[in-house]
Amino acid sequence: MGKKKVVVIGCGASGMMAAIAAAKAGAEVTVLESQKHPGRKLLMTGNSRCNLTNLAPRPEAEYQSGDEERVLPLVKSVFRQFPAGSTLDLFHQMGLLTMVEHNTYVYPVTGQSQSVLNILLEELKELGVKLKYSEKAVSVRRTEKDGASWTVLTEGWHYEADSVILACGGRSCPQTGSDGSGYALAEGLGMKVTDVVPALTGISVRFGKQPVTLKSLQEEQKMLYEGPGNLMQDQEDKSHRAPEKKKEKEEKALLSSLAGVRMNAGVSVFIDRVPAARDIGQLQFTATDLSGIVVFQVSRKVSRALRAGKKAEIRLDLLPAFTEDEVETIISRYAENHPDAPLKMAFCGLLPQQLVPVVLKAAGAADRMKGEPKASDLDKMFIRAVSETIKSFRLEATGVRGFESCQVTAGGVALSEVDPESLEASGPALSGIFLTGEILDVDGPCGGYNLQWAWSSGYVAGTHAAGGTETIKS
Ligand SMILES: Cc1cc2nc3c(=O)[nH]c(=O)nc-3n(C[C@H](O)[C@H](O)[C@H](O)COP(=O)(O)OP(=O)(O)OC[C@H]3O[C@@H](n4cnc5c(N)ncnc54)[C@H](O)[C@@H]3O)c2cc1C
Repeated sequence: MGKKKVVVIGCGASGMMAAIAAAKAGAEVTVLESQKHPGRKLLMTGNSRCNLTNLAPRPEAEYQSGDEERVLPLVKSVFRQFPAGSTLDLFHQMGLLTMVEHNTYVYPVTGQSQSVLNILLEELKELGVKLKYSEKAVSVRRTEKDGASWTVLTEGWHYEADSVILACGGRSCPQTGSDGSGYALAEGLGMKVTDVVPALTGISVRFGKQPVTLKSLQEEQKMLYEGPGNLMQDQEDKSHRAPEKKKEKEEKALLSSLAGVRMNAGVSVFIDRVPAARDIGQLQFTATDLSGIVVFQVSRKVSRALRAGKKAEIRLDLLPAFTEDEVETIISRYAENHPDAPLKMAFCGLLPQQLVPVVLKAAGAADRMKGEPKASDLDKMFIRAVSETIKSFRLEATGVRGFESCQVTAGGVALSEVDPESLEASGPALSGIFLTGEILDVDGPCGGYNLQWAWSSGYVAGTHAAGGTETIKS
């Protein structure tokens, strides 16, 4: 019997790894890539430094999918066959030196994603893999011609294969080639593709309603001593008369004034008031949205919720290392020790200075900054309202960035469509079709997890497609 013919569609991270594995297992491999150049997205990864994997224990638990039941066993099965350690061994054998940052994040020592791409392309060349660029696959059909089972049609040619690996990526950064056309190929074969949304992306927000503000605390106290129907009610009415649009504009301008601020913060997401995600890390404010790794990590939940027409609330913990009581104590102590200092100095050592007016506004305490208040003017209610806002600054999510600028796609070819051991499409009618990487409904957090999924799933699919399972370490 001659060599098995394997055609890989897509020369991204998972397609290259699948081709290497299939060739190592003895297959004759051709890779079709729609772009003029391979690995365009790989070059962008990790700010062009390529965070190629993560060495955290139990990485399989980090992945998400629309199919919560299947995702863990499937990723576990793939990682058992080709874990991060085997991936690094392979890269080291191919000549790439790596280094570890933040305990578990792995990068090439060169600090360049180009080195990772070059090493992969050299390996493909040495293994005799045929690379066809500017060759976009438009359909995959069953054929029995010349003993091969499948024909891949491109815009200008056709390729016969025993096995076809769909490694076309998702829809994130379509400018790199992953334009969603892989989903059409899968659907053309009768596979189910779930709804897809951008993930690992920025979130646009507007001011939410703070449950505790200076006004609400004052009202509470007034009610306690004087009963309802008092002066505070009048004040409430007055504020409602302020044109909503003007208020929104002011709040928008305040949020935009934070552009460029970077800080460590906790970010929690509540979907229809139910806690859905929380993370702590680097938060960045841009002129239009919240960004930074901590925001990316929770963005998937927001993306899905907004798509489903649900309300997504973001709560920022601007001082995650302290409890609310501690924040109150810190501010009170400042007032005691520096009574004559300008009031705003009480927050100077706690928050980036651009955030102070924003937090005071959200806490309903901005009016108290008029004139030249001193730290001694800080009373208990003021301190409580501001501390509450610092620990839980509420914002309403209004949208996420589009596919053009997100890092991964959440959703994709349904996990029920593949065998978790081999990543071959389920059912005899599709035997010989394999799927790998981001095209599947699996996505991971920032930190090297998405590339590891691409490498592991690529290696597993490539090996099984070539019929060479004995080359996989168990
Ligand atoms: C800016 C950015 C930074 C990132 N940084 C990191 C990081 O540091 N670490 C990490 O783990 N992950 C990172 N990711 C995510 C990671 O890059 C992806 O998850 C990974 O590249 C997915 O690999 P893939 O091979 O499945 O898809 P892709 O890399 O998207 O490759 C798919 C390939 O298929 C080709 N293709 C598509 N359709 C067809 C067709 N019909 N015919 C022929 N070819 C086709 C495309 O042109 C493309 O080359 C980042 C993503 C982005 C956008």
